Amino acid sequence: MAATDFLALATPGVQTLQPYTPGKPLDELEREYGIQHAVKLASNENPLGPGPAALRVITGQLDELARYPDGNGFALKAALAQKHAIEATRITLGNGSNDILELVTRAFVSPQHEIIFSEHAFAVYPIVTQAVGARAVVTPARDWGHDLNAMLAAVTDRTRLVFIANPNNPTGTWLNESALNHFLQQVPDQVLVVLDEAYYDYASDPAMQAAGYPDGMQWLDTHPNLIVTRTFSKAYGLAGLRIGYGVSHPEVAGILNRVRQPFNVNSLALAAAEAALSDTAHLAESVRTNAAGMQFLISAFNQMGLDAIPSVGNFVCVKVGDGAGVYEGLLHHGVIVRPVANYGMPEYLRVTVGTAQENQRFISSLQKVLA
Ligand SMILES: *Cc1c(COP(=O)(O)O)cnc(C)c1O
Repeated sequence: MAATDFLALATPGVQTLQPYTPGKPLDELEREYGIQHAVKLASNENPLGPGPAALRVITGQLDELARYPDGNGFALKAALAQKHAIEATRITLGNGSNDILELVTRAFVSPQHEIIFSEHAFAVYPIVTQAVGARAVVTPARDWGHDLNAMLAAVTDRTRLVFIANPNNPTGTWLNESALNHFLQQVPDQVLVVLDEAYYDYASDPAMQAAGYPDGMQWLDTHPNLIVTRTFSKAYGLAGLRIGYGVSHPEVAGILNRVRQPFNVNSLALAAAEAALSDTAHLAESVRTNAAGMQFLISAFNQMGLDAIPSVGNFVCVKVGDGAGVYEGLLHHGVIVRPVANYGMPEYLRVTVGTAQENQRFISSLQKVLA
């Protein structure tokens, strides 16, 4: 026991902060359970891995590792600016898009402020809120999704920031263009809105676009309080490198630039992300694999009589009853999924769509555990 009560010295928000629970790492499970060839479907990673173009440039970068990366990420920002047809001055690169969520909060939110997000929303929102000592205002979900009217009604003079994930993790629910458009028109100009589009590439296939799934970047000109975040961690298969970005009004980007670490994105991530952007074949194959896998899982759940929440991401929440027990049972079969009791969903498990083989392994293990 330390003589000093260090927790008492921590800031009030940090004293009650529950740390983020990551998915169980594969080698940890294999070590603890003496299992080989375990399958991890717990962290919404791309089961195909990085594309060949990204892997090639990473290898080429290795002899430059003694040098600091380009702190401004010039080349990647130029590629992103071209892809999205926006000014590079709107872009903030992050060590994962989590970095952007945290930068926005640190730069704009003080302890007297409130941050609004939905029930069952991404676990990082409450963490960054508490870390700056602000008050979290959590609005009830509607059909597992964000209730934008409830979020609007929760806005007060103290509201500085709203987090919206589209689609949401862990529920996989999504908001259509007209609902978001209405929300952005109603929300006061001084309230920053972070639209977290981590799963944009999975959710934006032609059918979904026809159904009204929007690209949040369309509103950047009309709503300067909007910050759209994207990541290379999911469909681009680069979660281990940690790279994501925010797109905002250039003044907001300038403010985020003041608080970020000078070299917050590493050189391998910069190079790999730029290469991944041009590897449209790998992205398309990743999205295709996901769509086929999602279809397989949903029909398997149907056959087993299990309810699942319709998801447009690369993951799906399935109702198994005793989430913790079934999670534990699956571990014994070498399958790691994600319990979501900490998201207020104790009867559900979230499973990431894997390869056809991984999905099959998960379903047959689930059948055994539930038998
Ligand atoms: C995975 C995820 C992110 C992205 O995290 P990175 O830091 O970019 O790896 C952001 N938001 C949501 C909702 C996510 O699920």
